[in-house]
Amino acid sequence: MPIRIAVIGSGPSGFYTTDALIKTDADVEIDIIDRLPTPFGLIRAGVAPDHQSTKRVARAYERTALDEHVHYIGNVEVGRDVSIDQLRDLYDAVVVAIGMPGDPALGIPGDDKVGVVGATKFVGWYNGHPDFADFQPDLDTKAVAVIGNGNVAIDVARVLVKTKTEMTETDLPTKIGDYIQQAPITDVYMFGRRGPVEAKFTNVELREMGHLENASPIIDPDCLPDEVTGEWSDRDRRLRDRNLQTMRGFPDSVSDAKAKRVHFAFYAQPVEILGDDKVTGIRMEKTQVVDGRARGSGEFFEIECALVVPAIGYALQPFEGLPVDDKTGCTANDNGRIAEGFYAVGWAKRGPSGVIGTNKPDGKMAAEQILEDFSEGGKLGHDGLVALLGEKDVKWSDFDDWQTINEEETTNARPGAPREKFLTIKDMLAVVDKA
Ligand SMILES: Cc1cc2nc3c(=O)[nH]c(=O)nc-3n(C[C@H](O)[C@H](O)[C@H](O)COP(=O)(O)OP(=O)(O)OC[C@H]3O[C@@H](n4cnc5c(N)ncnc54)[C@H](O)[C@@H]3O)c2cc1C
Repeated sequence: MPIRIAVIGSGPSGFYTTDALIKTDADVEIDIIDRLPTPFGLIRAGVAPDHQSTKRVARAYERTALDEHVHYIGNVEVGRDVSIDQLRDLYDAVVVAIGMPGDPALGIPGDDKVGVVGATKFVGWYNGHPDFADFQPDLDTKAVAVIGNGNVAIDVARVLVKTKTEMTETDLPTKIGDYIQQAPITDVYMFGRRGPVEAKFTNVELREMGHLENASPIIDPDCLPDEVTGEWSDRDRRLRDRNLQTMRGFPDSVSDAKAKRVHFAFYAQPVEILGDDKVTGIRMEKTQVVDGRARGSGEFFEIECALVVPAIGYALQPFEGLPVDDKTGCTANDNGRIAEGFYAVGWAKRGPSGVIGTNKPDGKMAAEQILEDFSEGGKLGHDGLVALLGEKDVKWSDFDDWQTINEEETTNARPGAPREKFLTIKDMLAVVDKA
């Protein structure tokens, strides 16, 4: 009997696990279960719409999904439509590949005001994730504060200041692009508690900021050290050195001819969100870095803004039956093993770090562990799940349905754009019903 495996989540880690499994000689049948009818996790809903070349990795995932041993079961949320216990009864092995789809709290007074929008929500909104179809941030503001010094913070800043022309050949939904373009935003402040050496930007993303059509990156040259100091591996030192060189090329004042600015504001930590119910500003404290850690200096300043986007990390959204490690915030796992026949991969396993390819070794490891634990299967798998979903009247979708949605989105694209995304599950399923 084939080993029957349920992979929960169709992001990179789910696909790398599936791919590693089908590339072995073992007799396996894999169901990839996702809460959305659209696969690929953050490739569709996280990676920035203007970074289409990064999204091309999904073509390889598509080949995996079309393998005869693989089924896609979309529009099924584990924890809501089916429980972990039910899946563990139905499959020999269950792999948790659900990512970390929550926003952690900023943890300062006022962080619950309207206008504080975590990066998951903000990025999910501009990427047309159906969870945020009813959400629209208030962009009636000249300034925006983005908290964080990583690539997600840069993505948010860039999407807010790029021109309509720059965003044409992207999959930014037209309605959302128009809304951003009509906003009076001129200044985006990207705050980091530590300095330019500690910032986690990759150099490609940083360099791109120097080539925007109508926005300049602004940096105070006094905060740029002459060289990278501190304990770094050779590779990290080289990366940071390259970033410093890039930042030295950025202008230091607002005298530039471009109408918008992205301020790389280092050595500053948020201490309070200002306003009544709605955000009217943010109070920041200047910091000093001692032994690699940021410490408040007691010197404060304020920025007037109606939108604060914390891009400070991600949180797991656990469901019943999924053990969580309170220390790491990830699933409680030992090198990917949660329990016998129960595994974790990707962000759910190790937290929100690395690039897309970092999830590949996780998938390979989970595949090896499954094949160590099982030489053959004995459970119902796909047919059992389909019967259960039928009993519960859950309308699930398959990979053919995704291909129908994909075709329709591609057909609906504005000139030059790769697709016009459907923004609700209802609209996605309506297309499937019509086909
Ligand atoms: C904003 C942003 C931009 C990024 N940009 C880049 C980039 O440009 N380049 C790069 O290399 N990396 C980038 N990354 C990192 C990359 O996206 C991640 O490394 C990768 O997506 C993690 O894969 P994953 O499979 O662990 O999780 P995810 O990609 O999050 O996939 C999780 C999947 O699980 C599904 N799911 C969640 N809960 C359930 C449930 N209860 N039931 C069923 N399904 C569920 C979700 O719908 C989703 O499809 C970015 C990350 C973010 C957040």
